[in-house]
Amino acid sequence: LFPPCTSDYYQFDELLTPEEKVTRRRVRECMEKEIAPIMAQYWEKAEFPFEVVPKLGALHVAGGTIKGYGCPGLSITGSAIATAEIARVDASCSTFILVHSSLAMLTIALCGSEEQKQKLLPSLAKLNTIACWGLTEPDYGSDASSLQTTARKVGGGWILEGQKRWIGNSTFADVLVIFARNTTNNQINGFIVKKDAPGLQATKIENKIGLRIVQNGDILLKKVFVPDEERLPGVNSFQDINKVLAVSRVMVAWQPIGISMGVYDMCHRYLKERKQFGAPLAAFQISQQKLVQMLGNIQAMLLVGWRLCKLYDSGKMTPGHASLAKSWISLRARETVSTGRELLGGNGILADFLVAKAFCDLEPIYTYEGTYDINTLVTGREITGIASFKPVA
Ligand code: FAD
Repeated sequence: LFPPCTSDYYQFDELLTPEEKVTRRRVRECMEKEIAPIMAQYWEKAEFPFEVVPKLGALHVAGGTIKGYGCPGLSITGSAIATAEIARVDASCSTFILVHSSLAMLTIALCGSEEQKQKLLPSLAKLNTIACWGLTEPDYGSDASSLQTTARKVGGGWILEGQKRWIGNSTFADVLVIFARNTTNNQINGFIVKKDAPGLQATKIENKIGLRIVQNGDILLKKVFVPDEERLPGVNSFQDINKVLAVSRVMVAWQPIGISMGVYDMCHRYLKERKQFGAPLAAFQISQQKLVQMLGNIQAMLLVGWRLCKLYDSGKMTPGHASLAKSWISLRARETVSTGRELLGGNGILADFLVAKAFCDLEPIYTYEGTYDINTLVTGREITGIASFKPVA
């Protein structure tokens, strides 16, 4: 059984609205009872658990803050709490939803035409169809704005040509949001590519040591034709993608919070049950110090995450705010789960105990949606007015 939540030491609960509490309870119950028991096996096999998709769909959290079009229209805090609750039990599940919802659906909601929104969002919100979001390329990761996939205008549409790498859900997604460079004006445009488009191929990336359940793929686009009506009219430069990333980073920041909470819960229970030298591990001062350090990190992470949501709500959130939260929280979480792994001794390296799984899952989260370094540089640019992404010659 998944342990009860024991990390709400500063009564963070009191900061939530009644609706947000209901969302949290609903998601927590489903994740703990229905999803927790089966995830370790899928993680070990690096397979995607299609059986959980209807359960996740029924939670009605995909689409997050998007209003209308069958989407939940949650508050940003409600959506963030749902993300954390999913990640608390299984980080891969939360990444699956985030790629689908906070990247792909949000791009369609912010940059799509009215027709595209009406056609795609209702079924994506129910998880009846699945989406992925293709920005990164083999040679352009942190430097994504230099991407080289091309979009060439032809009669009635566009021809996409190039490669994408690391794209979550891409091996089975029905709808692929793909970014490419317009060969006429050199600007970046966005396109909706259908799963069965001729010339499209997605191959699973094998041997990941984290988020093993998430199916990341290499995408090959060989003269893929996309009709005019499938171009996202609101993506006309990399700045438009940055607007999506700033919002999705709010959600991503809540993944490490949830993961840390789950690890803390596991450790809290384990230290009280496991005995050495005739006493529970929880009786040793060093163990208590580690547990308290983890708890302190979680309180701080929760409050930073919550404040970020409030800044977003009041329209005051800047890209630097979101980047600082994502980078700082994932750094604190890395320390927290690593301490948790240590506390479990040998069992800390077994996926069945969740802690080892969480420890490995945090690594890609530290890296994606802007690495720790890149998010630091986004905030650094904001507070100094000096961009330092490129080496000075
Ligand atoms: P690189 O850019 O090669 O970076 C390597 C190292 O160099 C990093 O430590 C980085 O911080 C550092 N570095 C790079 N530039 C600088 C600089 N200017 N200053 C200081 N340090 C620097 N992408 C998508 O489009 N869609 C997805 O669904 C998606 N899902 C992902 C899922 C997983 C599990 C992973 C691992 C990645 C995913 N990504 C996805 C890609 C992800 O966003 C990139 O991996 C990330 O942006 C880093 O790019 P890179 O891996 O090419 O590393």
